[in-house]
Amino acid sequence: MRARRFNSLLGGVAVLALALTACGTADVGGEGDGGSGSGDGNGGDTITIGVKYDQPGLGLSEGGTPAGFDVDVATYIAGELGYSPDQIEWTEAASANRESFLQQGTVDMILATYSITDERRQVVDFGGPYYVAKQDILTQADNSDINGPEDLSGKVLCSASGSRSAHNITEEMEVDAELREAGNYSECLELLSNGTVDAVTTDNTILAGFAAQNPDSFRMVNNPFGEEKYGVGLPAGSTERCEEINEAITKMWDDGSATEYLEEAFGATDFAYEESVPELEACA
Ligand code: GLU
Repeated sequence: MRARRFNSLLGGVAVLALALTACGTADVGGEGDGGSGSGDGNGGDTITIGVKYDQPGLGLSEGGTPAGFDVDVATYIAGELGYSPDQIEWTEAASANRESFLQQGTVDMILATYSITDERRQVVDFGGPYYVAKQDILTQADNSDINGPEDLSGKVLCSASGSRSAHNITEEMEVDAELREAGNYSECLELLSNGTVDAVTTDNTILAGFAAQNPDSFRMVNNPFGEEKYGVGLPAGSTERCEEINEAITKMWDDGSATEYLEEAFGATDFAYEESVPELEACA
């Protein structure tokens, strides 16, 4: 059904191309339209996808194309939507700009450790979840007195602005920690390294990637709590695309690709990632 729809869209583009050529403008969907801003992206030359650039194992760019689990999932989904890897334009998304990027059409979709929440659903749509993470805490390697959220009382805690990780601890769990917000998690890691903060909290996937990168400096407490359902962020009103994405996610788990991507991202670490197939949510 998806392939049929894509073909009919291609047909539409061909008709449009002919019409514009007749008017003397043959440059249809040329480089630079990027698919961004269109909201649907179908049939465009490219699709613009927001991912993290600073999270090892998930979305990490060291100057070139980003790599990691979110990037692999995004590439698989884009493929199912009819976009080859060279038709993907990657854009760095931070926790704080995910909603605005979707609302303003800066990107067509976001896969950036982006938890589905009711609050976010007020302004954007979500496909998925494609993975369910948990929250955890990272400390300096030689710290032994922080072993769970309750130990954070009176401590200085870092998380990224725009994330819900700190809120989960200070508001939901009512732990009296002093919050220090950073632009992203790698900034939190710097603050942890130099002792400005006592701990960093966010998803265990993110913390596991940092801990594995630098095991002599950091320790993940490994006392997971909560549930972070990673969704594919879409502009509001993307029900049809959300359904296509959910089909792609089902296929990605069925054909073993999701497990392969997790193994690639975390297989060499001691992080016990989740391998059960996530339960998809209905598209709005
Ligand atoms: N998954 C959580 C969230 O979306 C924390 C990770 C992040 O900030 O990307 O708020």
